[in-house]
Amino acid sequence: MKNRTMMQAFEWYLPNNGLLWKRLKEQAPALAAAGINMIWLPPAYKGAAGKNSVGYDVYDMYDLGEFDQKGTVATKYGTKEDYHAAVQALQDNGISVLSDVVLNHRMGADGTEAVMVEEVDSEDRDQEIGETEEIQAWTKYTFPGRAGKYSDFQWNMSHFSGTDWDDGAKKGGIFRFSGKTWNRETDSENGNYDYLMGADLDTDHPEIIQETHSWGKWYQDTVHMDGFRLDAVKHIGFDFYREWMKDMQEYAMRLECGGKDLFFVGEYWSPEVERLTHYLDVTEHRLSLFDVPLHFHFFKAATSEGEYDMSTIFDDTLMGEDPDHAVTFVDNHDTQPGQALYSFIPAWFKPHAYAMILLRDVGIPCVFYGDYYGIHHDGVAPVLGLSTLLRIRQQYAYGQENLYFDDESVVGFTREGDEEHEDSGVAVLLTDSVRGSKRMYVGTRLAGQRMVDAMGKRPETVEIGEDGWGIFSVDDGSVSVWVTEKAGDELFLRG
Ligand code: CA
Repeated sequence: MKNRTMMQAFEWYLPNNGLLWKRLKEQAPALAAAGINMIWLPPAYKGAAGKNSVGYDVYDMYDLGEFDQKGTVATKYGTKEDYHAAVQALQDNGISVLSDVVLNHRMGADGTEAVMVEEVDSEDRDQEIGETEEIQAWTKYTFPGRAGKYSDFQWNMSHFSGTDWDDGAKKGGIFRFSGKTWNRETDSENGNYDYLMGADLDTDHPEIIQETHSWGKWYQDTVHMDGFRLDAVKHIGFDFYREWMKDMQEYAMRLECGGKDLFFVGEYWSPEVERLTHYLDVTEHRLSLFDVPLHFHFFKAATSEGEYDMSTIFDDTLMGEDPDHAVTFVDNHDTQPGQALYSFIPAWFKPHAYAMILLRDVGIPCVFYGDYYGIHHDGVAPVLGLSTLLRIRQQYAYGQENLYFDDESVVGFTREGDEEHEDSGVAVLLTDSVRGSKRMYVGTRLAGQRMVDAMGKRPETVEIGEDGWGIFSVDDGSVSVWVTEKAGDELFLRG
């Protein structure tokens, strides 16, 4: 068994050239060889911005680059045929495919309707700040370009609970539709965080439950993905996705292809781990969540001029509290430069962060496209040493884990290796401040072996004693990853 490793296969500023699906199809063998065995693809359906849409401004979830809508047949990433070919190529190379699901909101309606609303306070959405009034809301979705193919469901104001634009008065605000209530159990930020953007789905409406479930089954039948990445889960009643996941899983098991166990990962954007563990409880642990608290710890450590207490880096993270449901990551399309949740980890700390998510024994790490390939739009280079760390994860990061998060600056961990993986065993030492060294236990399996720094920072070899201990060093603000001499030669040769 190889370690599971996910990649987020896009960043925000990919060129709008319709070529991502083709590129991923071509890259599939190389990605598999690099150690990727799970991939999160961006939303594949037509967004309001047509070919300029990253995919979160959902217009028509049945248009996977097939219909002439929003000024284009293809999406930003390509046509429906390209999408199918990419999924097939990835799966043929042993890479599980996760499809991005955005069910919170819709954008780019085909027409407006007169809707009675109450405006609410944007910072306390339960607080009305206006009388009941009529607005013109973009809530009519008829999908003329698709003309009823796959589904004749059309959307109207009854299917939404709020919006942020009155097209009559040309006025912005948060308008809750009269007679509607926000989903009760959502995140409590801003009073109630059901509303995020666009026209917010009323996920309590029986027709919406019916439609989103039947779309999910159509999507499975059409794409045969291996799982889903769920967008903006804190903005949707928690029971909604619990039931949706249950239904999708049952459907996947029934599929004629033999049935599969779907993997779900949700985006609950909060630095507070209690909110994440609460969501996991309410949804019966049917999904994993991205470890957002850990991302913020990385950001803090990377921006504190060496003053961060490295011994606390896994405290109050999902990796620490519920590692079996943690998808760990360093950055994503929202945290990259220019984006809404900007908190991009500075380059010097990226190898530290990746060593911590890729080489430890807990959590499923997700590698960001922009870190692996670079971000051309902002002149961001690929993370130095990332492909080496991925290979170490794939080949050598196995066996018992020993933690040495026992100092404010110089911290580390080891993996003792196992019989199944030749030359396995790793020792990691890193610091956010000045250089140092630490005696760490790598196990008696490696007794008498010599270890070298695969990151190429420290020139010496470390002799492992008969008792399984060695003394490892790290340079100022650096990370060193020690592997056996033989593993080091192999990594160097494959360079
Ligand atoms: Ca919502």
